[in-house]
Amino acid sequence: MKKSILVAASLLLTSSVAFAADFKQADNQWFKDAQASIKARMAVQPITNKAKNIILLIADGNGVGSNYATRLYAGQQAGKLGSEHVLPQDALPHVALVKTYNTNAQTPDSAGTGTAFHTGVKTKAGVLGVDETLARGDCSAVEGATVTNAVETFSAMGKQIGVISTARLTHATPASAYAHSADRNFEADSYLPEGCGQKDIAVQLIDVMKSGAVDIAMGGGRRNFITKETKGDEGKSGKRTDGKNLIEEAKAAGIQYIWDDKTFASADWSKPVLGLFESSHMKYEADRTGEPSLAEMTEASIKALGGSENGYFLTIEAGRVDHANHAGNAARTVTDGVAFAEAIAKAVEMTDPQETLIVVTADHEHAIAFNGYCGRGSDVLGLCYDIDPAGTKHSDKPLMGKDGKPYTVVGFLNGPGSILGEDGSGSRPEVTQEQATDIDYVQQSLIPLSSESHSGEDVAVYGRGPWSHLFDSTIEQNEIFHVMLQAATAE
Ligand SMILES: [Zn+2]
Repeated sequence: MKKSILVAASLLLTSSVAFAADFKQADNQWFKDAQASIKARMAVQPITNKAKNIILLIADGNGVGSNYATRLYAGQQAGKLGSEHVLPQDALPHVALVKTYNTNAQTPDSAGTGTAFHTGVKTKAGVLGVDETLARGDCSAVEGATVTNAVETFSAMGKQIGVISTARLTHATPASAYAHSADRNFEADSYLPEGCGQKDIAVQLIDVMKSGAVDIAMGGGRRNFITKETKGDEGKSGKRTDGKNLIEEAKAAGIQYIWDDKTFASADWSKPVLGLFESSHMKYEADRTGEPSLAEMTEASIKALGGSENGYFLTIEAGRVDHANHAGNAARTVTDGVAFAEAIAKAVEMTDPQETLIVVTADHEHAIAFNGYCGRGSDVLGLCYDIDPAGTKHSDKPLMGKDGKPYTVVGFLNGPGSILGEDGSGSRPEVTQEQATDIDYVQQSLIPLSSESHSGEDVAVYGRGPWSHLFDSTIEQNEIFHVMLQAATAE
């Protein structure tokens, strides 16, 4: 009896498309759209040939919560209610959930997570390109703990390589692609402890460029390549104390140096390129002047590397989604989130899924949270307005807490926007729609911290192209590297 019910149920499931006409809701747009979506997905075939090119796009600190905020924002900017919007990553055919913890951290950092997807092994928080046997900061253990990273792996296959970030190029995520360091903070020699035998991260980047392994490196962080006595292109002095000018060393080795939007626009992309567009991180997208966008850097890199015979590996980080979340400033989180989405759209549009694997992910999530029960179309950066029981769009009534004050759609569990103050004695301030939607508004949070924290929640990984169907189920973060490796080496 039980068995026959199961058989009948499974028959109904597999043949639901054919039965659609019998449903009372068959003409309902939601029903029809879902039927069309299922049909489109039934036609998706796994691509199992070798990937010539691999593009890994990471938005730092962009878990599914932060990604949701960006989706609402991008949709609302396009004149929609928001939730129905489809970001370019949402439209990729394959997806998995990713467990982001480091071997010694339930809440991970970007060095341990970057090492996971750039080397194939999980490791401790704060270390780069080394395994978990190394205690953070122990320079003497680097050699013995070193693991092979993405730059070494893909350059050995004869691929050209680009490393792009809107953060400092020596910052944890981009550095995890090319460097081995006992501590993510060893960005210039002045940060190395006395007697530390390893090379600083800026020197390691110039080394991999001089060796020809990395062809394009663009981002921020100029200060780590020049000395404290040297003024960089925008007048800020450097961090080095060893007398080295790594920019001059790069130029002497035939690497072209660019530092603003104009030198970017006039660059000769047939030569190796080092772009350092800021002393520290590049500007937030909302404040960007005089610098290329992430999408522009993506486009230039794909054009430059696209002609290479053995293909390319391009790792692209939207580094500042993370920083805006740390600041508790949702407006800059979503504007940098949109800049990331535009870079993804560029990569999708410029490549052929038969030959290029595109991987989109985040290293970790933040303590970002979403209040309820907002009606559709409540501005993601504004107040949470009540549901209209008779309509679709929210009512004109902001929802109130027990304290009689309205609250915003987005909040953070901790951070600089704490309602408590450092002595824990504060109370929740009033907030208006006008205040909340200001670009500089810091969302209310609970626990007072100077910098809002990461969280250990899952992130998503989205894929298109050869072997991206292996992004399925809930996976460990280091498996992302193994999917890229499978794609690059498939027979
Ligand atoms: Zn962070």
